[in-house]
Amino acid sequence: MSESSNTNQSSDFIREIIREDLETGKHITSVTRFPPEPNGYLHLGHAKSICLNFGIAEENSAKGARCHLRFDDTNPTKEETEYVESIKEDIRWLGFDWGDHLYFASDNFEQLYEWALFLINEGKAYVDDLSADQIRVYRGTLTEPGKDSPFRDRSINESLELFEKMRIGDFKDGEKVLRAKIDMTHPNINLRDPVIYRILHAEHHRTGNDWCVYPSYDFAHGQCDAIEAITHSICTLEFEQHRPLYEWFIDNLPVPHQPRQIEFSKLQPTFTLMSKRRLIQMVEEGHVDGWDDPRMSTLSGMRRRGYPPEALRTFCKMVGVTKFSGITDIAMMEHSIREQLNREALRRMVVLDPIKVTITNWPGNDHQEIMKAVNNPEDDSLGTREIPLSGTVYIERDDFMVDPPKKYYRLSPGSEVRLRYSYCILCDEVIKDSEGSIIELKCTYDPLTLGKNPEGRKVRAAIHWVPFKEAVSAEIRLYERSFTVEEPGAEDDWRTALNPEALTVLENSKLEPHLADASEGTSYQFERKGYFCIDSKNSTQESLIFNRTIALRDSWAKINKK
Ligand code: ATP
Ligand code: MG
Repeated sequence: MSESSNTNQSSDFIREIIREDLETGKHITSVTRFPPEPNGYLHLGHAKSICLNFGIAEENSAKGARCHLRFDDTNPTKEETEYVESIKEDIRWLGFDWGDHLYFASDNFEQLYEWALFLINEGKAYVDDLSADQIRVYRGTLTEPGKDSPFRDRSINESLELFEKMRIGDFKDGEKVLRAKIDMTHPNINLRDPVIYRILHAEHHRTGNDWCVYPSYDFAHGQCDAIEAITHSICTLEFEQHRPLYEWFIDNLPVPHQPRQIEFSKLQPTFTLMSKRRLIQMVEEGHVDGWDDPRMSTLSGMRRRGYPPEALRTFCKMVGVTKFSGITDIAMMEHSIREQLNREALRRMVVLDPIKVTITNWPGNDHQEIMKAVNNPEDDSLGTREIPLSGTVYIERDDFMVDPPKKYYRLSPGSEVRLRYSYCILCDEVIKDSEGSIIELKCTYDPLTLGKNPEGRKVRAAIHWVPFKEAVSAEIRLYERSFTVEEPGAEDDWRTALNPEALTVLENSKLEPHLADASEGTSYQFERKGYFCIDSKNSTQESLIFNRTIALRDSWAKINKK
């Protein structure tokens, strides 16, 4: 199903091409770019492109390689400064840096306009009066050639004059366009006189009302690459059919450099929506609470959910770069998140759904003992912490069963369990309220069991607990995958695939006291439950909120073993 492998080496057909170009001296260094359109927040798919483009620059840094961040802002109606800022933040968070190389396609509007005039003067572009619908009809289909517009042969002077009038605002939106004059019968539809300038009376987020004609993506993209001296212009497969057009502009314009376009396949993980258009709908229709909602596959949502950027980079490496389009099992990403968090997360005890346990033979209300707990068994340097134990604790509701099945080793009436890092307790009595729900357990502890099983005693399970008096209350948000089907984007309506259980809120969880000053950006493993982090948006010192990044169970590790 996926194109993955577990290798760590970074090599792929694009890196091979670049290595060869550097070895043969075709280029002395490599210059790549990441070219987002600022019309939404970045998502996981963009991470693949970022890791590829910035990764190549890092790997060739000894040769002075660099990667530009270029905003492809040629469509004023959908673009906003908010998106520009979020994109920068997300790239930095992933661990990459464009240095001084921040560019905007809109910085080149004047140059692009000059080059459009150049094409007209060369007899290679013309102003067309056909409407968008007519242009579509004249374009033909995959099996039928197109036909020439009646305006195709208007004189160079007339086109020049009309194009200048387009620029100064003499026409309404859609009244005229500028088209490249290539070949209306070309087998590749992209070469059938593509529109290169359109009239749009719209305010642009950077150039304001300076322009009312805007270049098409195809006319802007390659020329911006050429202006920035990009050597390898890496894009996704849907642009493969545009490559001849990309090259036509580079060949027919007096551009300063000759970039080469190379395509690779998009990342499409299972259980995930990957298109900005749909992500916008999720936000605007209120299925989630903003672009950075932890249920979103945006980088800002993933950051807020607690995904470590290193894990996303590792995942992108595992997926690799190829020309085969396929879907990637999201479990692979979840696996790399768990691996990373296992290494770095501080262990803490948290009872998500508490029941009170009173230890009836505890030596007095004021008696307190200090238990020592390890912060991370994978990393001794993270040390230990102390947790006080008095006669009352909280344990997890599902760590107790009145009438347990065989092989249930946790607490039940008459059976014994260990409180992690502490003593064993035995349940003697269950107290219920008038409706029959359990409100308290009465237990006894055995002082001979601290940290060990006395000879001949089999206590099979250790459960987490939180001291009653010192417990800190918190809200916990449990996140699951956001969709219930592997390919939500392939459904007639992705909305039907939304997972109603993507978020469960627990309002009365109990934390061990060390979490009172949990810090934003730190990962915690709540023992036996999963990885969690402070919610950076809604949590306050007075009312703490934690997000579950991911549960402990690792389905990918199992799949991988098989
Ligand atoms: P979407 O389809 O989500 O709207 P887009 O391709 O329109 O995305 P851009 O802002 O144009 O978004 O993308 C910036 C760069 O990221 C482009 O080079 C694009 O090819 C790349 N990219 C977008 N989606 C993916 C993906 N799923 N996998 C890899 N690269 C991607
Ligand atoms: Mg796009």
